[in-house]
Amino acid sequence: MEYILHYDVAAIFIICVVGILFYSKKYFPSPSNRAFSFLLINLLISSVSDLVSVYGIENADTFPVGLNYIISILFYISYNLCAVIYLYYTMTLVKIVNTKLGRRLRQLLLAVGTFVILYIGSTPFTRTVFYFENGEYMHGNGNYILIPLGMLEIGGAMILSLWAQKRITLSQKLTTYAFGIMIACGIVIQIRFPQYLIVNFLGSIMLLLIFQTLQNPSEYISPDTGIYNQKAFLEMLDMQFVKNKSLTILAFQLEGFQFVDQFMGAENGNNLLSSVSTDCSNNLQGTLYHLDGTRFALILNAECPRIQENIEWLNWRFLSTFKVCGVAVSLVPRICAVNYPQIAKNKEEMLNAIHYALKEAKDKNSTDVVWASLEAIEEQKRSTMVNHILSRAVINREFEVYYQPIYCTRDTSFRASEALIRLRDEKLGFISPEEFIPIAEQNGLILEIGDIVFTKVCEFIASGVPEKLGVQYIEVNLSVVQCMQESLHQHLTEIMDKYGVPYHMIDFEITETFANGDTGTLVKNMNELISLGCTFAMDDYGTGFSNNDYLMEFPFKLIKLDKSFVWSTLSSEKASKILTHTVAMMKSLELLIVAEGVETAEQKEMLERLQCDYLQGYYFSKPLPEQEYVAYLQNAEQFLAELNRPKKAPKRQTRRKSVKKSDKTESNEIE
Ligand code: C2E
Ligand code: CA
Ligand code: CA
Repeated sequence: MEYILHYDVAAIFIICVVGILFYSKKYFPSPSNRAFSFLLINLLISSVSDLVSVYGIENADTFPVGLNYIISILFYISYNLCAVIYLYYTMTLVKIVNTKLGRRLRQLLLAVGTFVILYIGSTPFTRTVFYFENGEYMHGNGNYILIPLGMLEIGGAMILSLWAQKRITLSQKLTTYAFGIMIACGIVIQIRFPQYLIVNFLGSIMLLLIFQTLQNPSEYISPDTGIYNQKAFLEMLDMQFVKNKSLTILAFQLEGFQFVDQFMGAENGNNLLSSVSTDCSNNLQGTLYHLDGTRFALILNAECPRIQENIEWLNWRFLSTFKVCGVAVSLVPRICAVNYPQIAKNKEEMLNAIHYALKEAKDKNSTDVVWASLEAIEEQKRSTMVNHILSRAVINREFEVYYQPIYCTRDTSFRASEALIRLRDEKLGFISPEEFIPIAEQNGLILEIGDIVFTKVCEFIASGVPEKLGVQYIEVNLSVVQCMQESLHQHLTEIMDKYGVPYHMIDFEITETFANGDTGTLVKNMNELISLGCTFAMDDYGTGFSNNDYLMEFPFKLIKLDKSFVWSTLSSEKASKILTHTVAMMKSLELLIVAEGVETAEQKEMLERLQCDYLQGYYFSKPLPEQEYVAYLQNAEQFLAELNRPKKAPKRQTRRKSVKKSDKTESNEIE
């Protein structure tokens, strides 16, 4: 029979071209890249050995028979292993290699491959696949086993991609089907016309197609930096995770590019990023991955001393500047480390942990490495959630305002109250203002939140109910961020005017942290509002760095003794003396005093003895929703009478009852 060799020659040419294109790019050892590499080499061996074996067969009478056997065996083995490797390649595409099913299939493929090698390799003794007799090449019956086996494997690959069609893209699906159909057609043609050595040629065409559509090596390379990208990072993590060894992911984010982009153009920014990443990639130990933006990561063995060396190198390198258009630019690295499996058990958790740990490093404004901890991640996650909830709550005006009655010791009645904001979320339940106010101050939503609270308070005052019940003023908390707004006084006045609120009915509370800001703006705002009739109270006196200079510098009318200050007097005689002297000093400055956190009759009596003007605390009531607060004031006399009655068992019960009522109001929120 005269074999037509042109197809094999063309196959070798095509495979070589694909090979050059594939290996000339940075090769990433992902499972699919490895399987493709096997397929390519195997197909090349199959095509070359096919060509050489034909020469050997045609000249069998002169060609050494041993060599003829070796070459033909090589051809048959590589030819038949193509389908086995192709099935494995499909497994990598549908990403089941490391699953339970994948492990079973791998064992099966290994068994099939071993069988193919032994079956074909033993043919000189068994004469099953082929043999040489009297200088002539003879076919055995082995193809009756090998061809159906190959068809089964190719069919298996097609069934696999059909089964996992949701996991693969359309082009992956089409390519796997096309490969199967082409090879099956090739086998049929070659059985019918054995002189046409067409299967390897069709295989090489499919290899080219796979390379073009699925196996593009640049999909693992970041176009901005030329190093491996996040996809490569995640696939490498997957490969490392199955080894079940402890890992440490060292990630870092570079800050300072904004300056370059803004003042020297985005192109210079990109060039800088590219050269910095090449520098890092060349000097850091381990493979560097470009995650996104200016974030990079290294996957290291957990016990590896290179972690510390890498950290030291990063800190050392970024001490010096980078030259961009003749300008020295400083970049700051924020570095974090995440341990697998202690902190992150899978890819998603790992990306999350890196994100939060880098955020923590940035918030801390430190170049020290932040070791990700589960608590910190939870905290950051919650803060992100609260951020979202706040944005939604501002849009839908979901906030409520509660009122906590304030007792006037001179009048022995409730003459004031403090407006306190409340936020509830379906998932997180009650969120304390102590948690969300600082977040709102950071993201700027505090201005709108402040408006919502103040508008609600004005609406309430405008209803006339508080005044009718003897309330002289309502205390409204102002955040430092609000106080820094130059137009604050105009803005607040507009709201008060809109509802016709008498100015004297508003007392604004400001905490002493205001001293860190622009005090000139604050004093201006205060004076404007005071000139209308509003008053101001200094909140949280006795915490932090209470500085009495503020009392002279700012026109406060009231001082609110913080609850922690009040409580400390119970346990410490020194604190009690400090409180006594503080109150006396305030009195001499003609400041009115509000004591917060009054929880017991003893505290009330002690504070009354000291001549505090106002008392506020759970002893009287917790903060209440508007309607309950109104009801409380309506029954105030009764409540006070019960509180003042000598402590006998039934009376205490009644007091508890009243507290319980308010307890109920807040218990859902606080616990
Ligand atoms: P703050 O201004 O010191 O408010 C007093 C806090 O003490 C309130 O907590 C109140 O419920 C609580 N409290 C009052 N009496 C007692 C007591 O006897 N025992 C105990 N254990 N606690 C008592 P709340 O409502 O959780 O508010 C916390 C902080 O959130 C406030 O501290 C204030 O700084 C801030 N905040 C609340 N509402 C607003 C608001 O509308 N705007 C701004 N900017 N901040 C607010
Ligand atoms: Ca307050
Ligand atoms: Ca306070």
